[in-house]
Amino acid sequence: MDTEAIVIRIKTPLGDMDSSVDCPSLLNFSDLLVAIRDVMPEATVTAFEYEDEVGDRITVRSDEELKAMLSYYCSTMNEQRMNGQLPEPLQIFPRAGKTPGIRNIHGLKVNTRPNPANDCTHGVIVTDSMANNSLKKSSAELKRILTTGQINAQDIQYQEQLGQGNGGTVYKAYHLLGKRVLAVKVIPLDITVELQKQIMSELEILYKCDSPYIITFFSAFFVENRISICTEFMDGGSLDVYKRIPEHVLGRIAVAVVKGLTYLWSLKILHRDVKPSNMLVNTRGQVKLCDFGVSTQLVNSIAKTYVGTNAYMAPERISGEQYGIHADVWSVGISFMELALGMFPYPQIQKNQGSLMPLQLLQCIVDEDPPVLPAGQFSEIFVHFVTQCMRRQPKERPAPNNLMDHSFIVQYNDGNAEVVSMWVCRCLEARRTQQVQGRNLRLDGP
Ligand code: ATP
Ligand code: MG
Repeated sequence: MDTEAIVIRIKTPLGDMDSSVDCPSLLNFSDLLVAIRDVMPEATVTAFEYEDEVGDRITVRSDEELKAMLSYYCSTMNEQRMNGQLPEPLQIFPRAGKTPGIRNIHGLKVNTRPNPANDCTHGVIVTDSMANNSLKKSSAELKRILTTGQINAQDIQYQEQLGQGNGGTVYKAYHLLGKRVLAVKVIPLDITVELQKQIMSELEILYKCDSPYIITFFSAFFVENRISICTEFMDGGSLDVYKRIPEHVLGRIAVAVVKGLTYLWSLKILHRDVKPSNMLVNTRGQVKLCDFGVSTQLVNSIAKTYVGTNAYMAPERISGEQYGIHADVWSVGISFMELALGMFPYPQIQKNQGSLMPLQLLQCIVDEDPPVLPAGQFSEIFVHFVTQCMRRQPKERPAPNNLMDHSFIVQYNDGNAEVVSMWVCRCLEARRTQQVQGRNLRLDGP
């Protein structure tokens, strides 16, 4: 049987619960039953059912029957893929026993509930063809990755526009079935159906990403010539709209960014688009990365329409040389310098709309010595962190493990989400007040 990860959707009376299984061939019946009982602690589940292609329910009570179900599911999954669809999760319907009163007479408890703080993740765009078989979840472990599963275009109610980038437009939206708020990025793409299929299959890795520092991916679909990518909504938005961020807040943000990148690198994914607008925050004080490179084809298709070079790119990328993890590290440095100063660190580069610039304008990043944060205004360790990330020679920049060990990161790696949370809430409040005042002024005006 295939060893690639699958998503199992447990249908419960209270809603759907999706779990990813890394290595289905190692899954056994009792593991799955434990996971079901964990999400339905009130019921006495002894078996479950799945539906075959004509909708008949088939009961699973043993390892043998589980194997039959998985091999049936793998063949339907392959078929869906060949038709260019993201495979639907495997739906199972728990069957409760008839004698709840006598089950568990000794009051034994199985506590296997996954840590809710560790909810799943993932981000948006790009990828690398390298690698994705090094995902770290233990093989038979069931892990919650989604609570709503597949999302269809007709179940989405669009609300306001959150922003517009070079590739597409991001909307706040409400998913009627999942009863949750989403951020949906809609990107127009005039490409062949073949390329659409390739993008969908490249995006599949997003289901497997699992880090609290990466935005949660829910689903993606094509409608006509537009792809919609549905992710978790972050109520604080992206960092590019915050002015100067104080160092003690930036420190906590840097910890999350470094952890998020370390996670992606461990999956052999380069982010490739680290910049303040791809760092999102929420009022709970969480910081998550989005728009990282998981679909080469998607990135290439967008790049054909939008020509320009990203101002946060490392000098070696601007010069068209080969690049790797160190290029992401440069982008971390320049982003944090901008967030600390409240302005782009190369004054001669005026970023008016977005971060794409004509290549010639970015030549100074290749030719000049990198800028340095003014020592008097910032701590020595912060200045050192940014300076190291922005060394012109890629190899001289900190390697992933050195980044985590840098004293700036170590100092702020205290798990204090409150600091970021309070700062986000204060900024949002100030923005609201300003908007109200602006509105009143316009009303009072001539
Ligand atoms: P570029 O296209 O160059 O990457 P960008 O990152 O600003 O630029 P988009 O990725 O399209 O462009 O995002 C537009 C804006 O939408 C972001 O700047 C951010 O403010 C908002 N946004 C994106 N994703 C989310 C999200 N998950 N939650 C809340 N706001 C979001
Ligand atoms: Mg973005």
